[in-house]
Amino acid sequence: MPAGGALAVDRVKFSQLVTQKISEHKNIELVREKVNKIPADGICIIATGPLSAPELINSLSEKIGENYIAFFDAVAPVIAKESIDFNKAYVAGRYSQGDDYINCPLSKDEYLKFYNELVNAERALPHDFEKNLYFEGCMPIEVLADRGVDTMRYGPMKPVGLPDPKTGREPWAVVQLRQDNLEGSLYNIVGFQTGLKWGEQKRVFALIPGLENAEIMRYGVMHRNTSLNAPAVLDKYLRLKDFNNIFIAGQLTGVEGYMESTAMGLAAGINALNLLNNKELKPWPDESAIGSLIRYLNTASAKHFQPMNANLGIFPALDVKIKIKDKKLKARQIRDRAIEAAQKFWESI
Ligand SMILES: Cc1cc2nc3c(=O)[nH]c(=O)nc-3n(C[C@H](O)[C@H](O)[C@H](O)COP(=O)(O)OP(=O)(O)OC[C@H]3O[C@@H](n4cnc5c(N)ncnc54)[C@H](O)[C@@H]3O)c2cc1C
Repeated sequence: MPAGGALAVDRVKFSQLVTQKISEHKNIELVREKVNKIPADGICIIATGPLSAPELINSLSEKIGENYIAFFDAVAPVIAKESIDFNKAYVAGRYSQGDDYINCPLSKDEYLKFYNELVNAERALPHDFEKNLYFEGCMPIEVLADRGVDTMRYGPMKPVGLPDPKTGREPWAVVQLRQDNLEGSLYNIVGFQTGLKWGEQKRVFALIPGLENAEIMRYGVMHRNTSLNAPAVLDKYLRLKDFNNIFIAGQLTGVEGYMESTAMGLAAGINALNLLNNKELKPWPDESAIGSLIRYLNTASAKHFQPMNANLGIFPALDVKIKIKDKKLKARQIRDRAIEAAQKFWESI
């Protein structure tokens, strides 16, 4: 269906086609049954999705512990580091503790402008089963702002202990960004989980000094989503680290999106078949789109893990002597390298 740069399909026709392909496939026996317990033995792939039935999730948590299962996304936007303006932003830890954060300082006027645009910005309406999802620890930034003009300054935007090196004084408010991937090419906006519509995120967060030209690699979302803390429990073949016969696929792995969920199904399926046939399991090359996603699932911080969609920021850095400034050229080089890596992988299996 026409959708500009996005891939859009007619949900009904698309799911009818997938159902038809599966039910007519000679090697697939389709059993329409609710599974409440993970089979005790044999190889299985669990791909029960963001709205997984609770009984099966209980069976899964018996194996990995409930701490490793999240039931909804409170996701903050992730920004490409190279799009941050370091003429305004500065690196510092609070009270000079380390230098793990990038800080964007706001004056009182800048803060009030940001506040007014934030509380009046358009929000994505939650589905019925997503109402009343929020709890204190991960309130959407716009819902926090609704509580009062200064609430954010005592929360995610508190300036204490973060003097701006240019003035030596603490700004009126500060937005902090924390490293999100191994390379340090992605940073997420701390405490900015949000349900704002994506266009509004781009517009409103560009009001933050230092983020005027921010490239948002993953937008914030707030929605019901059952997913695993992948870095803590999954290996590079998408198996549970302590249960080598249990593969996880789809959105449950900690990816976000249809393409990503399907890709994890493909990755898990290939290695489950290799295991069944006593063949060597094959990791996907990091340079490929699927491999870069699995690499993120394996190497992201388990303490701060949030589901991820495919984007240029999670690919390994290009091995180039001179940094490529032209974004389109860089994207083409990452794409060509990914296609080459994926082709080599296909030829090897
Ligand atoms: C409301 C909502 C809207 C979304 N919109 C988009 C979007 O527009 N674009 C996008 O890219 N992504 C979107 N996603 C995210 C995601 O891409 C999709 O959810 C995608 O369908 C995930 O694929 P999956 O195969 O992991 O799970 P699903 O497609 O959900 O498939 C899992 C299947 O397992 C079945 N199942 C669950 N528990 C059991 C059990 N115990 N026994 C047997 N079967 C079971 C379910 O009935 C379901 O048929 C959305 C997610 C949600 C929740």
